[in-house]
Amino acid sequence: MTDTTAVPAEANIDSASLERLRATVRGPVLTPDDPELAVEAACFNIAVTHRPAVVVGATDESDVVEAVRFAVAERLNVRVQSTGHAAIVPITDGLLITTSRMNTVTLDPESRLATIGAGARWGAVIAAGAEYGLAPIVGSSPGVGAIGLTLGGGIGPLARSHGITSDWARSFRVVTASGDAVTASASENLELFWALRGGKGGLGIVTEMTLELAPLRTLYAGGLFFDGADDIEKALRAWGEWVQQAPDNVTTSVAIMQMPDFEMVPPPLRGHTVLHLRFAYPGDAAEGERLIAPLREAASVYIDAVAEIPYTAVGTIHNDPEQGMPTWIYGTMLTGLDHDAISAFLEHVGPSSGSPFMIAELRHLGGAMNRADADGTAVSGRDAAYLVNLITANPQTFAEAAPAAAAALVEAFGPLLAPVTNINFSGDPADPLTFARSWNEPTHERLRLARSTYDPNGVFAFGPALQG
Ligand SMILES: Cc1cc2nc3c(=O)[nH]c(=O)nc-3n(C[C@H](O)[C@H](O)[C@H](O)COP(=O)(O)OP(=O)(O)OC[C@H]3O[C@@H](n4cnc5c(N)ncnc54)[C@H](O)[C@@H]3O)c2cc1C
Repeated sequence: MTDTTAVPAEANIDSASLERLRATVRGPVLTPDDPELAVEAACFNIAVTHRPAVVVGATDESDVVEAVRFAVAERLNVRVQSTGHAAIVPITDGLLITTSRMNTVTLDPESRLATIGAGARWGAVIAAGAEYGLAPIVGSSPGVGAIGLTLGGGIGPLARSHGITSDWARSFRVVTASGDAVTASASENLELFWALRGGKGGLGIVTEMTLELAPLRTLYAGGLFFDGADDIEKALRAWGEWVQQAPDNVTTSVAIMQMPDFEMVPPPLRGHTVLHLRFAYPGDAAEGERLIAPLREAASVYIDAVAEIPYTAVGTIHNDPEQGMPTWIYGTMLTGLDHDAISAFLEHVGPSSGSPFMIAELRHLGGAMNRADADGTAVSGRDAAYLVNLITANPQTFAEAAPAAAAALVEAFGPLLAPVTNINFSGDPADPLTFARSWNEPTHERLRLARSTYDPNGVFAFGPALQG
């Protein structure tokens, strides 16, 4: 756990202003001496404890407007949190707006448009769409916040067949640094709309998003598990060959998973190191079975959990943890994958590598991700071929073992390393190196201009330049 005892309290905040804020907003206004602050600011990543000067639990757009205006008047920087899935570094200053109360999801089945509150998680959007056979194009975990993921792009289990989540965004309501609420869409505030789809932060607080849903009721999807070093290598190499010819409408990924010997892990996996091969085909089961056949035959399948599933079970493809846990994540992207890259992956994160990672995954990208107009949004990493994502839950590895192991793997990928990594996977945006590799230079420059238009004084803390 992070020690937050030395964090300065709200000493410089005008107490009359704070009382006025409390009287104006409907949600709670908390300072470090309020015991509720810890719960209000709690994160999915339980290794991080936030203790900002003020937390405003916003209930609607007007609460967000008041909170931003208060912060500007008090010279506090502003951050926003929905679920804390992206929490990496404790927040120790400024004002934090929490959005978990703004979690309504409404749907117009005719236009296929869902209106999603700032604090809604994907699970609620999936449930709202299911009644009408409509599906949001989500990330791997239904527990992740819809807005946070979309602002970074959103690369999920249907990335190759349906593209990036933000390609389905149709409009945003945003409170900018002036304290005004504006709409950003293809017809209003075009540059802000461009920036919000992939630019992630430093632009404003999104209070609501309109997202088009895809007509999709079922998937032929799930995971194949391979156990033991031989089968893991055989299956991984077969997948590495298979993806070279994979059709665009199938999205797959593989993860070497070191399952802990904990009771919460189901017995067949508990204490095992397995290869989890994820498969998602948004079509009928017969064709799905034909497509997956070479992967099923690649090695001896330990657990076969691929079948026709309702879209409501999309989260079972990756089976990400739902409960918060200590998390250290590192992502990078590759331009290709060959025999040597797979050897490097096995050597550095394979069953006998001694790797610190609970999950080391390779996601196959491309397909519909590439077909979208690259200049139409600020999403980075769109043209990469693979995503590498490394996760450890053991805090003892966070400071040294995990970063060193990630750096060694990155070096081993050599020329296949892509120059940028999508911001949802790249790490702490406040770190200058992470920030630099999250977009290419033209996109960085265009984002700089958008941020300076909508937040000229850097009220919204995001990226190294804006850290106070
Ligand atoms: C288990 C797990 C699985 C994941 N799977 C995927 C995946 O498949 N694909 C993918 O692309 N990413 C994935 N991610 C990364 C995820 O998309 C990012 O961590 C995302 O930022 C989480 O959003 P959140 O709202 O849940 O988190 P939070 O930590 O609450 O928010 C993260 C950031 O999003 C921004 N943000 C959130 N709400 C608002 C708002 N209302 N207005 C303005 N900015 C806002 C802020 O910059 C905030 O710091 C995963 C992460 C985890 C931990």
